[in-house]
Amino acid sequence: MVSRVIPVEEFDLVIFGGTGDLARRKILPGLFRRFLSGQMPAGSRIIGAARSELDNAGYRKMISEAIAEFGGKESSNTKGLEGFLQQLEYVAIDARGEGGWRDLAQLVRDDVVQAFYFSVAPSLFGDLAERLHTNKIANKNSRIVVEKPFGRDLESARALNETLAAHFHERQIYRIDHYLGKETVQNLMAVRFGNMLFEPLWNNHYVDHIQITVAETVGVGGRGAYYDKSGAMRDMVQNHLMQLLCLIAMEPPGQFEADAVRDEKLKVIRALQPIDHHHIVRGQYDAGPDGPSYREDAENERSFTESFIAMRCHIANWRWAGVPFYIRTGKRMKARSSEITVVFKDLGHTIFEGDEARHRNILSIRLQPNEGMDLQVTIKEPGPGGMRLIDVPLDMTFADALGDTVEDVADAYERLIMDVIRGNQTLFMRGDEVEAAWRWTDPLIEGWEARNDVPKIYDAGSSGPDDALMLMHRDGRKWRDIKG
Ligand code: NAD
Repeated sequence: MVSRVIPVEEFDLVIFGGTGDLARRKILPGLFRRFLSGQMPAGSRIIGAARSELDNAGYRKMISEAIAEFGGKESSNTKGLEGFLQQLEYVAIDARGEGGWRDLAQLVRDDVVQAFYFSVAPSLFGDLAERLHTNKIANKNSRIVVEKPFGRDLESARALNETLAAHFHERQIYRIDHYLGKETVQNLMAVRFGNMLFEPLWNNHYVDHIQITVAETVGVGGRGAYYDKSGAMRDMVQNHLMQLLCLIAMEPPGQFEADAVRDEKLKVIRALQPIDHHHIVRGQYDAGPDGPSYREDAENERSFTESFIAMRCHIANWRWAGVPFYIRTGKRMKARSSEITVVFKDLGHTIFEGDEARHRNILSIRLQPNEGMDLQVTIKEPGPGGMRLIDVPLDMTFADALGDTVEDVADAYERLIMDVIRGNQTLFMRGDEVEAAWRWTDPLIEGWEARNDVPKIYDAGSSGPDDALMLMHRDGRKWRDIKG
């Protein structure tokens, strides 16, 4: 199968924070892969802009080392690398001062697509936005890309939106949630809206409940101090899990177009009901053979921050009335696994005498690892013995079904950056969406802070605290096993 590459126009992409961790680990290795697949027209440039005093040669060396470390199998393509590095430039710049801005103004062209990636702390967004204008670098078609975290509550998110809106129109702002760039996340939409099979069943008449799990095996490690001010709710739920929830639950948009999709996602967030605290379980991992406890990692013996959260949510609309959405995410769990599972209702009646078992169709979409889907169906157990029924998975692992093309698919970051260059905002969060998500999560966080809620300790390498299992047991349901 041949993968199709959609061409892009010539561009100048400025990466503020171009020497930082994200730029070296994700953005530049991703751009290198796009270069190799022919998506970086000759004449296009990537301009690193950061505080370090480097010249072009120094920056190219830094990025060639980053690609060697993080670029995967393509990093051995030395001829390709040489060509890519020639399209890199560097400007030493001070976001808060005047240094470097005149140089940048001379470099960036007005007659090609212009994008500015703000891969720096959010406290610098305002300074960058303002200086891009006072130095007459940005124009009305420039695009800016901003990273998570987009605020830490509604108030700070609003302030950030206002700061950006003072200089850029919403159609110029690309808020990244890299989950939306994942191949399988987009597949959620393809599965729902590209098949006759599922959409008629996608409602409270046929769906018993939906589960979303994003489990990581790593702890907070070196990011402990930063993470301790955030926690799983702010770090994962408010953005990634809520985006997954939106894609699963939204109404079909009129067309696959940025505002049509984002309008529908916004409606889901607005329809989320407040959650009673009995339906929220927060946890912290204990020390295990593979590492220290959360509190040791966070260097805070009295930390009440959660490294795990499980919740039962409800969406108040006609489609989903009465259908619980169970979501959970955590660190130091038994396996690295992200999965969305749609559990359909029991058959109303069985015609098979002697078959007491409960048979259910379960559609499970794996985001990682082994991207794919499986659909549990009920069949007759082969062989003699009458009509005995068993449940078997119809498994489609994309790598098996689609072969090499899966390996070639772009990483989330590179796909999203190319969407910025193409001017396609469909997979980016709109300002009102982000604010609505905080409007829903803020009272939950304030609630547990006011109660001085102490997270439950769970074993490293487990499925989280027992209370999270109870959250579903109480409803006569159970979580899918977390399998890597
Ligand atoms: P980093 O600390 O590694 O890099 C920060 C960069 O900003 C450096 O290039 C530095 O030179 C530049 N910088 C700092 N102050 C500056 C100033 N006054 N003027 C000009 N440049 C300045 O940070 P990072 O991990 O690369 O993260 C960048 C942004 O991306 C942050 O907002 C972070 O929250 C977000 N983010 C990072 C990751 C990740 O995996 N690293 C993941 C998601 C989001």
